Amino acid sequence: MTPAPEGAALLTIDLAALAANWRTLAERAAPATCAAVVKANAYGLGIARAAPALWAAGARVFFVAQLEEARTLRALLPAADIYVLGGLLPGLSASFAGLGVRPVLGSAPELAEWSAFCRRSGADLPAAIHVDTGMNRLGLTVEDTLALGADRARIGFTPALVMTHLACADAPGHPLTALQHERFSRVARAFPGVPASLANSAGTLMDPSFHFDLVRPGIALYGGSAIAGTAPLKPVVRLEVPIIQVRDGISGESVGYGAAQRLGRASRIAILSIGYADGFLRAFGASDGSPGAEAVVRGRRCPLIGRVSMDLTAVDVTDVPDVERGDTAVLLGDGIGIDELAAHGRTIGYEVLTSLGERYRRVYLGDFPA
Ligand SMILES: *Cc1c(COP(=O)(O)O)cnc(C)c1O
Repeated sequence: MTPAPEGAALLTIDLAALAANWRTLAERAAPATCAAVVKANAYGLGIARAAPALWAAGARVFFVAQLEEARTLRALLPAADIYVLGGLLPGLSASFAGLGVRPVLGSAPELAEWSAFCRRSGADLPAAIHVDTGMNRLGLTVEDTLALGADRARIGFTPALVMTHLACADAPGHPLTALQHERFSRVARAFPGVPASLANSAGTLMDPSFHFDLVRPGIALYGGSAIAGTAPLKPVVRLEVPIIQVRDGISGESVGYGAAQRLGRASRIAILSIGYADGFLRAFGASDGSPGAEAVVRGRRCPLIGRVSMDLTAVDVTDVPDVERGDTAVLLGDGIGIDELAAHGRTIGYEVLTSLGERYRRVYLGDFPA
């Protein structure tokens, strides 16, 4: 156990595990191309370190959500193919072209703007076409996309990719997944010669008929379970927090805000230097009758007691001998994965990762250029 210097919680991000996870997914997807989704600061882990590690592993195609993320990524990876999932806001075509990044166009006005920009600049600039096959979030209708496929001259540029996004891929056997697959197969056939992409992480782990030409994993790269109830790839994050006080609690007294949990016995309570301001969600807390998350202290699982405060969290260490101030509690790692932690807060691993706090001392493992 390495005590974090100066009392900061320690977030360790294993770039070698990240790279290994990408290679595993790339093997699963072959002969399809395996891209990497690095939106939201690489799911909270830090794009500045994650993107070069993924590039070193072999990734050449990347997806972000917003233009500003693409700007950051372009500075890190001058030669990558970069797609912006959020598409094109009015008047931003020149910014995309200037950075050499590709909008994922999901509506008729976006297509019209990009096509007009290509015409004005006399260049056939690459962009993706996003078709909505059942998510009802972004994308053209299947019918409109099929019509464009039948009359490609109307598009006004050469699409570099035609893609859709699965709504329920994490739930095995969900009927919407089969329906989206059927709809997208028709679209892909209408665009011969244009690479097609359907699969997120879960789709990448399904049978090869889901792979088409390019897969777009995110969460599985970062150690999350992509399909409910299945084991994730290698864990990537570890979170260790200093114990700043160990105290006795009297049976029948309560702990923390709202007196949400009473002690059922004379207890030893460890106070951890972490709270919801660090993205350790309030929903991870415990109350009478509703257990919360757990921590590993001196190799033993210990339950949280009471609510998570802004900066502090209490853990019941009564059953662990000799816990001392300055010891470390592990909140992610030592068998606690992001999906387990998420379940305690009735959320998902994605939210656990993208909430990871700014106060952590971040240490990156693996020999990749910064
Ligand atoms: C976020 C996202 C992905 C990656 O999804 P995961 O479930 O994290 O693998 C792929 N495609 C689109 C369009 C996305 O928004």
